[in-house]
Amino acid sequence: MPHPRSAPFLLALSLLAGGCTTPAPPAAPKPGWALAVHGGAGVMDRETMSAETEATYRAALQAALNRGTAVLDKGGSALDAVEAVVRGLEDDPLFNAGRGAVFTADGRNELDAAIMDGGTLKAGAVAGITGIRNPITLARAVMEQSPHVMMIGQGAERFGAEKSVEKADPSWFFTEKRWQSLKKTLTERGLPIPPRPPGVGPEPVPLAQGDGLPEDRKFGTVGVVARDRAGHVAAGTSTGGTTAKLWGRVGDSPIIGAGTYADDKSCAVSGTGTGEYFIRLGVAREVCNLVGYGGKSLQQAADAVIQKQLTALGGDGGVIAVAADGTLAWSFNTSGMYRAMAAEGQKPVVAIFKGEP
Ligand code: ASP
Repeated sequence: MPHPRSAPFLLALSLLAGGCTTPAPPAAPKPGWALAVHGGAGVMDRETMSAETEATYRAALQAALNRGTAVLDKGGSALDAVEAVVRGLEDDPLFNAGRGAVFTADGRNELDAAIMDGGTLKAGAVAGITGIRNPITLARAVMEQSPHVMMIGQGAERFGAEKSVEKADPSWFFTEKRWQSLKKTLTERGLPIPPRPPGVGPEPVPLAQGDGLPEDRKFGTVGVVARDRAGHVAAGTSTGGTTAKLWGRVGDSPIIGAGTYADDKSCAVSGTGTGEYFIRLGVAREVCNLVGYGGKSLQQAADAVIQKQLTALGGDGGVIAVAADGTLAWSFNTSGMYRAMAAEGQKPVVAIFKGEP
């Protein structure tokens, strides 16, 4: 039976294969696994991004695919793949999740994350986390070991300690690059600059002039969607939110149906962008509804929500999605989105700018 795949993915594969037209259907008797990853959407231009930066991000995205592939190729579950890939991205200071998260206006890292299992519709989410190394794992603990879907702040962290979820000192999340972004944003807004967080040392003198990385002041959230060989889908999203957000602000990432959603009957979605818009539109669930009840293909549904609804509301960002049949899609209305996809037996695709596959 042919392996159903999304049009963009097939196009990408055919381009990578040097323009050959119809990729041969894989020999596997049943559809295999599929995986997509994002590392945030935003202003990313070929002209302004250095070759070194581009290579750094492409390597990080490829490494994320490799982590997911390692789980799914062994017959692992979509849920395990999602958690493993998000954990790796949370530990990578390049991204605005876990280590490397952006700062609140009062100079703290408040982390949000969610995970959802499309087979059971179970979900777990955490918000306002300051001392747990991998918020996605805490979200999974909420899903599997509590009667709740969402926990916040100190209560969530206390629950995590009871369940032996690894802690981290708040200074673990600190990066100089994000701190300088906070200072710049607060200065532009005429707001006071908070003292440097305890335990991070004094500001380096002189400040490193450009670390070759783009100034990710707003985006860099990470998200993963996967479909395993058993046909189950899952989604996970993790973020520090938006630079200089007000203390206590919660974005879309941990809101089930807004930034994260998964249902075997339709699809799994993870979003990135200005969360307030994603919450108002219920973006992730809306994409799945258009697939499940609206008769749209996954790509049509993602485009309808991002290119039409989100854009009309003035929002910015994008989604990655996988349908229950393994079809993959992404859509974004910014100039770039760190993104990657892979499917069993297919060549992976890693992309950053608009116009790439
Ligand atoms: N959606 C995230 C939030 O609003 C930010 C992002 O995707 O970069 O918290």
